[in-house]
Amino acid sequence: MLIDTHAHLNFQAYDQDLAEVIQRCHQAEMKIINVGAALDTSQKAIELAKQENNFYAAIALHPIHVYDEEFEIINYQKLIDQHPKQVVAIGETGLDYFHLNEILKKGAASIKEIKIKQKQIFQEHIQLAKDNNLALIVHGRNGDDQNVYQDIFNILENNKYFKGVIHCYGGSLAEAKQFVQAGFYLGFTGVITFGPPSRKASEDQLIKKKKVVDKTEDLREIVKWMPLDKILIETDAPYLTPVPFRGKRNEPVNVKYVAEKIAEIKNKSVQEIIEITGQNAIKLFNLK
Ligand SMILES: [Zn+2]
Repeated sequence: MLIDTHAHLNFQAYDQDLAEVIQRCHQAEMKIINVGAALDTSQKAIELAKQENNFYAAIALHPIHVYDEEFEIINYQKLIDQHPKQVVAIGETGLDYFHLNEILKKGAASIKEIKIKQKQIFQEHIQLAKDNNLALIVHGRNGDDQNVYQDIFNILENNKYFKGVIHCYGGSLAEAKQFVQAGFYLGFTGVITFGPPSRKASEDQLIKKKKVVDKTEDLREIVKWMPLDKILIETDAPYLTPVPFRGKRNEPVNVKYVAEKIAEIKNKSVQEIIEITGQNAIKLFNLK
């Protein structure tokens, strides 16, 4: 079964035409996990899961939002207690070293302080997942010269909890092996479909894009290595729209292009990839 394990139909990007986007999901006979990034979007994800068949929710305070509101673990525990059928994961939580300077403007005293706060709140999310036997949906993003994945791994190891997925994986092959061997799943998005830069681009853009292209080449190498039973597919809609719709707003039905690219890399049929990744999601998130 086609399953988008990470979408944000709970975000404002869908305010205008949510009903139509949902309709297209149902036509594709797929399952979707909508992922919260703060208390309000977590509640919205649950609302959607109550309204729609085959919709599920993940709840958390995203690491880029740790200065936007307080993380009160009791509020999230209440949501789990009140909606046990809808809440299938804790996420997205984790560490983000890419947006540190932006977060600094929200009133943090220093980069060091932000990192400490992200780490502490991530650990509270891990505790919440552990207490409720739920999977973690982990967000990680490297900074220019700050590697996030080793820090995430160490925190998971210190807390002895390896039930979950690193969503939109963007680390190295060595780090991928470390997570998978510990029992984690890795999530792949439309980024694996991104092609080479256009010839019309300026030199500056080319240099910038070259970095991205190098990264997507690495990702394809990682997909090639990945054991099939540890791969999840996702859109991260409204972001990261795959080719051939790159540049437009993303939506869950496009997750099939991620499956197609993985099938091509793995030399398998698309149906096989859809089935295996679907089974992986059902198992990890205990989807009914
Ligand atoms: Zn996301």
